[in-house]
Amino acid sequence: MQIYIGGLINMEAENETEKLVIIGGGPAGLTAAIYAGRSGLEPLVINGPEPGGRITTTSELENYPGFPEGIGGFEIMQKFTEQAERFAARMVYEIVEDVDFSEKPYMIETEENNYRAESIIIATGSNPRQLGVKGEEEFTGSGVSYCATCDGPFFKNKEVVVVGGGNVALEEANYLTNFASRVYLIHRRDKFRGTDILAQKVKDNSDIKILWDTEVKEIKGDNSVKSLLVEKNKTQDQQELPDVQGLFIAVGQKPNTDVISGIIDRDKKGYIITNDRQETNKEGIFAAGDCQDPRYKQVVISAGTATIAALETYKYLEGY
Ligand code: NAP
Repeated sequence: MQIYIGGLINMEAENETEKLVIIGGGPAGLTAAIYAGRSGLEPLVINGPEPGGRITTTSELENYPGFPEGIGGFEIMQKFTEQAERFAARMVYEIVEDVDFSEKPYMIETEENNYRAESIIIATGSNPRQLGVKGEEEFTGSGVSYCATCDGPFFKNKEVVVVGGGNVALEEANYLTNFASRVYLIHRRDKFRGTDILAQKVKDNSDIKILWDTEVKEIKGDNSVKSLLVEKNKTQDQQELPDVQGLFIAVGQKPNTDVISGIIDRDKKGYIITNDRQETNKEGIFAAGDCQDPRYKQVVISAGTATIAALETYKYLEGY
């Protein structure tokens, strides 16, 4: 077995029990790695399919303290990674497929490796929710997207729609006006859920047309999206948006916790249940960040809960 660690290969990993394995390499996972690394735990971080986490798809982060001019999502996560590595955190880039937490040491299985751990911090984050309309699955990747930063540039001088009324939808609508000829923002109510400052930016942007009390009914096309059928939900009046070629869905998040389903306690939406020390129902297993936060989903809060998790993990391992 070989584990790539900063370009080196660790041939001994198979037989070692890690003091701490952190599952997830977003803001929470990497903050936990910084704190645990500084405490001498030499944490192993299993970065999932999106190293740096979903925040890497955010074009600009304006509310993380210490960056008065804002900072790109990708750039800030590079800094988190560098900082974690500076304190001896080791990174692997694998997807966790199964876990066995029935006895200690706990087991974590990826396609490539099996890891044993005395303690674990779960920081698996969340993923975008689907809208659940006709055509969504068929056209995902061919006009339907869940990430404006990733796919916006493909829609230069084209008409696009953003669905949702939260901060992500508001940010994406603004961002897409850099490329698209017109941006429709479709929201099912007549008031945004997102913050006033972002809502005002959208309302002030003449390239954005807001369709209130409106829902997407069907995504139409052949090889790619060609139009959208939408409906006013108060009157059931339907309308076709004939020139729309891109649909950006931003209707919230769902936690990435399927792999621990039935093993670690979760709430009815799938968020991991933790106490105020970030402990889960299993001794020595902690959770931090968006996978256990149904409410705030802020980088600074993920960093905060991860800090608690790392400090408590240290205490747990030291037997305090
Ligand atoms: P969100 O705040 O939960 O908003 C989801 C939006 O999608 C809501 O407006 C909701 O409508 C709408 N929606 C949900 N299901 C729908 C459906 N089936 N059909 C149509 N619309 C639907 O999610 P988010 O925008 O992804 O943000 C997630 C979290 O990250 C939030 O806490 C947000 O504040 C945070 N965030 C913060 C920043 C920032 O501070 N700069 C940036 C990005 C995200 P209703 O309003 O009617 O429920």
